[in-house]
Amino acid sequence: MMSVKAPETQDAAHHPQIPVMNPVTGEMIGTIPALDRQAVADAVGRARAVQPAWEAVSPRDRARIVRGWSEDIWARQDEIIPILRRETGKTPGDAFLEIAAQDNLNAYYTKVAPRLLRPQKRPTLFPIIHSATVTYRARGVCGFITPWNYPIFLAWIDLVPALLAGNGIVLKPSEVTPYSSIWLADRLREHLSRAGQSPDLIQIVTGDGRTGAALVEFVDYIAFTGSTATGRKVGVRAAERLIPASLELGGNDPCIVLDDANLDMAATGVLVGALENTGQACVSTERVYVLESIYDAFVAKVQHYAGQIRMGVNDPDAQVGSMTNEREVQRVEAQVADAVERGARILHGGRRRPDLGPLFFEPTVLVDVTHEMTLMRDETFGPLIPIMKVRDEDEAVRLANDSNFGLSAVIFSDNLGRAQRLAERITSGDVTINKAHLNFYTPSVPMGGEKDSGVGRRNGPEGLMRFVRPHSVILQRPWHWLIRPYLAHHDPLTIFMYKLWRRVRRWLP
Ligand code: NAD
Repeated sequence: MMSVKAPETQDAAHHPQIPVMNPVTGEMIGTIPALDRQAVADAVGRARAVQPAWEAVSPRDRARIVRGWSEDIWARQDEIIPILRRETGKTPGDAFLEIAAQDNLNAYYTKVAPRLLRPQKRPTLFPIIHSATVTYRARGVCGFITPWNYPIFLAWIDLVPALLAGNGIVLKPSEVTPYSSIWLADRLREHLSRAGQSPDLIQIVTGDGRTGAALVEFVDYIAFTGSTATGRKVGVRAAERLIPASLELGGNDPCIVLDDANLDMAATGVLVGALENTGQACVSTERVYVLESIYDAFVAKVQHYAGQIRMGVNDPDAQVGSMTNEREVQRVEAQVADAVERGARILHGGRRRPDLGPLFFEPTVLVDVTHEMTLMRDETFGPLIPIMKVRDEDEAVRLANDSNFGLSAVIFSDNLGRAQRLAERITSGDVTINKAHLNFYTPSVPMGGEKDSGVGRRNGPEGLMRFVRPHSVILQRPWHWLIRPYLAHHDPLTIFMYKLWRRVRRWLP
């Protein structure tokens, strides 16, 4: 059994313990302390005490240290992947993808952050007399609350830009999968120490929702990833405290298959989009709309490829692993039962696989589905692939947008111009064409939700700049030969200059 002390708290023994389970074997891996409000306040205080020294390090040197950390993770993936798999039930392939995605993210941010964080000159009204500079200060201590489906990547994706921006970090990992985050933070502490920085810059606070709620009380920014219901609570409290927040929430992502798509690519692409991480991804494909002229042929292809999928956790070639928690398996079962009761047909799968482990559920292809069914309206966090026939593009877009969510979407088509025009009509943070989850592997573009899928964007310059406070200094040159003392802003010189500028500005560059 794994025994992990509360990373930052000396008196961890005095906190109630939460068991952490291996979803594949059903065995307890270990326990983590549920830290209370005071312990969270102390952790934020420790990060706050050392944050100014970190902010004083140049962005280039910060990037160098973070890059070293990331290289270390890559080099030691044989250590972290088993920890990750033991608490999530991921296949070897899905676990590797988390490491690859963080590596890609780090390569992007450590390259662009020093440039993006540079002070900027901005245009002024009278450029000869005035000058304006914007500098980017860290927010202070940023808090991160993360879910269990990508314990490494979903911490990293927000934590790395916040670190590069000069902030202190307090991470509250999911109580379901805390050990990967603890390992990750330990490595960062080693790198900070080696570089002469305080390891206190990163703090982990373990616990359940109460520990998460306490974190919102003390930090200067909160980045939350999780369900819409919890995100709404976090957003309300952040608004009351007047601290900025980003809320990366649930989704029910549509996929549209156009009549000019290559059917083999589209069928396998839909399966990958729906089944990566056993369907437990916020950007999973959860509703498939297929133009009627290719519907029958497409469904036959999906059935064909679904029959080739291998399930398992220790099989290196397995495409689908265990689900991670019982609550989600039950939700998937309820959605399948509701769909069948309302007239849906199961073409493939549809049941648990206790022979493989307690939380295995078969990839399940359903047809004759409608928007009255819960699986088309609510988020599905499991391996379901409901397919619906549509008349034309207009009906596909209307149904794709007929959702409370708006996280991501996928279009399959060999006509890229047509697909791009269609993408502009979909209400979501992003659309990927001919491959699902490209957003996860393209850290240069912003990603985030519309409607109930959240507020704010991660990735890209937007994902970095949310962690800074722009600070503007605008100066007037002391040209006393030109500028005389005057008791109002509307002195004759200003009025003359403004009228002159109005006349000439159309010819100015
Ligand atoms: P969850 O909302 O139950 O928990 C997420 C985190 O919030 C956990 O660490 C939990 O301990 C904490 N928490 C619970 N109650 C809290 C409270 N009152 N205040 C503060 N923190 C609290 O979500 P989950 O089941 O862990 O994760 C699955 C959900 O996450 C799905 O809805 C999925 O779509 C969403 N998700 C979204 C994204 C995205 O990028 N949009 C990515 C991954 C997962």
